[in-house]
Amino acid sequence: MWGFLGGQAMFPAAFDYLAPTTLGEALDILAERGDDAKVMAGGQSLIPLLKLRFAQPALVLDIGRLPKLNVVSRHDGRLIIGALVRHVDVERDRTLADNAPIMAEAAHWIADPLVRNRGTLVGSVCHADPAGDWGAVMLALNAELVAKSKAGERVIAAAEFFKDPFTTALKPNEIVTEIRIPIPPGQAGGAYNKLERKVGDFATVAVAVQVEMNGRKVTRAGIGLTSVGPTNIKATEAEKALAGQELTDETIREAARLAASAADPKDDIRGSAAYKKDVVRVFVQRGLHTALGRAQEKRT
Ligand SMILES: Cc1cc2nc3c(=O)[nH]c(=O)nc-3n(C[C@H](O)[C@H](O)[C@H](O)COP(=O)(O)OP(=O)(O)OC[C@H]3O[C@@H](n4cnc5c(N)ncnc54)[C@H](O)[C@@H]3O)c2cc1C
Repeated sequence: MWGFLGGQAMFPAAFDYLAPTTLGEALDILAERGDDAKVMAGGQSLIPLLKLRFAQPALVLDIGRLPKLNVVSRHDGRLIIGALVRHVDVERDRTLADNAPIMAEAAHWIADPLVRNRGTLVGSVCHADPAGDWGAVMLALNAELVAKSKAGERVIAAAEFFKDPFTTALKPNEIVTEIRIPIPPGQAGGAYNKLERKVGDFATVAVAVQVEMNGRKVTRAGIGLTSVGPTNIKATEAEKALAGQELTDETIREAARLAASAADPKDDIRGSAAYKKDVVRVFVQRGLHTALGRAQEKRT
């Protein structure tokens, strides 16, 4: 486990490694050593952090051998995505394609096939990188995370999960076992638009949009933003402005304006803050037009 940065070998600090085969065993270990441990799923974000020594846990707890967590299913009006479901699985899964096609669209934008083959959706959300794509999609879809510890189970709304860059509402003794997404009604559509400098790059800006319709009226709108603030952002005011409305040029323009004002980007090598805000505006407009078209296709 090593690499090179500026000609220098990059070795992680020493750590213990455990790979339990039951959830109970994993939770026992975290109950004892959670404060000094890091859970590892696909390792696509954790291993680079270890190599750069940005993280130096005493223990890496590999959950890759826990049973039944690599499954997508439907239960009680929700899509259930287990903690070991990888980006590539999301890209190909029929249940998700039929019920929430925005998921396959977003999965395809993540990194490259190597990362998509190993990294997990849940791991990406737990990593809480404000430039991560899944956080925005989970916010748009009103997802919930199920966190387990020896003390029991908590359900955390995605809107309450992201606290700061790389910081979440999770406690050190908890493992997220699944993400739950309310199954959108028949007449619904979504879109994920991402601007990146080159294929496989993190987003300069990305926007997830989901609309649920009853006839011509929006019953629920979800809008999540990537790379334009300290966390993924739920554009709540824009969502509220759309509820109960028809999607016209005017309501779409107003929602896009509100979403852009919810963004709080910084100038960096990917672009100025003003430019990124304007991309949010354009992507919300574009996403809503696409989502509307997809919702109408489903109605016919
Ligand atoms: C070259 C490269 C390009 C990338 N490009 C993109 C991109 O374009 N878009 C994008 O969104 N991401 C990108 N990523 C990041 C990557 O997709 C995800 O962050 C990664 O897949 C996270 O999932 P994982 O299973 O590998 O998590 P890990 O690396 O194993 O873990 C990540 C973090 O989440 C915690 N964690 C993981 N699973 C759980 C769990 N079940 N319960 C509690 N905590 C948990 C870990 O403790 C750790 O802190 C890129 C990564 C690389 C290396």
